[in-house]
Amino acid sequence: MGIETYAGRVALVTGASSGIGAAIVQALLRKGLKVVGLARRVDRVKALELKDAPGKLYAIEGDVSNEESVLSAFKWIRENLSGVDILINNAGLGNDCNLTTGKTQDWKRILDVNVLGLSICTREAVQDMLRRGVDDGFIIHVSSIVAHNPPIAAYLSMYTASKHAVKTLLEGLRKDLVARKSKIRVGEVSPGAVRTEFLTNFDGLPPNVYDTIPCLESEDVAEAVVYMLSQHPRVQVHDVIIYPTGSS
Ligand code: NDP
Repeated sequence: MGIETYAGRVALVTGASSGIGAAIVQALLRKGLKVVGLARRVDRVKALELKDAPGKLYAIEGDVSNEESVLSAFKWIRENLSGVDILINNAGLGNDCNLTTGKTQDWKRILDVNVLGLSICTREAVQDMLRRGVDDGFIIHVSSIVAHNPPIAAYLSMYTASKHAVKTLLEGLRKDLVARKSKIRVGEVSPGAVRTEFLTNFDGLPPNVYDTIPCLESEDVAEAVVYMLSQHPRVQVHDVIIYPTGSS
């Protein structure tokens, strides 16, 4: 009873074109899943194909901050692959916008993608699972270590608030599913700094910022996702908090 029970099943990974999402796509392809990678830069998702992996990749162009785009992605999956069995809510962004001078549009981008996009995808995935009687479905949010701490700097306040929201939404989702007597499992991964393109959105940081701090690699986070999916159905790993060694 491990992740092989999900071989041939359908996993949707949002934010699949880069970093952690791309690593999760490839990890699940190696485990034999049908993986739908969704992102705006769809060509980068197509490039994740692995010749020797047993799984199959489907790349979909989509924007999680646009409800129509999300709904049409779920419709495509329903019509072509029957539905979503696993959702990895990974799409996310941060930018430097403090609370006294930040631009409203920068705050909205964070909340639209990290909170509302994640919530729309979650609702659609759960509805799809319930409609098909899928009782071993799985929803995993890619959260952050910042969800467990106050903001480490003023410019990270809105991003930190968005990940605190993700943590709270996960608790609510679990209660919602329990109330429905569903066995769909939910959990989150909360990594510290990961070497991806994520920090390139922060104007004030040097381009080599990842060389100046202890970092994880995207594959470390993908491995945590595989670990969560590998557990016996009675085991619901709620959160995997991962600090880079040497980070305080
Ligand atoms: P990257 O910037 O490398 O990747 C972000 C991904 O999100 C891209 O694939 C991007 O795709 C996608 N994305 C952004 N906006 C949208 C959108 N509107 N619709 C669909 N996809 C979108 O960053 P990471 O891989 O590091 O980030 C992945 C997750 O990990 C995020 O949720 C982030 O908050 C979290 N995280 C990252 C940490 C880090 O230090 N890197 C630490 C802790 C958590 P595209 O632009 O093609 O649409």
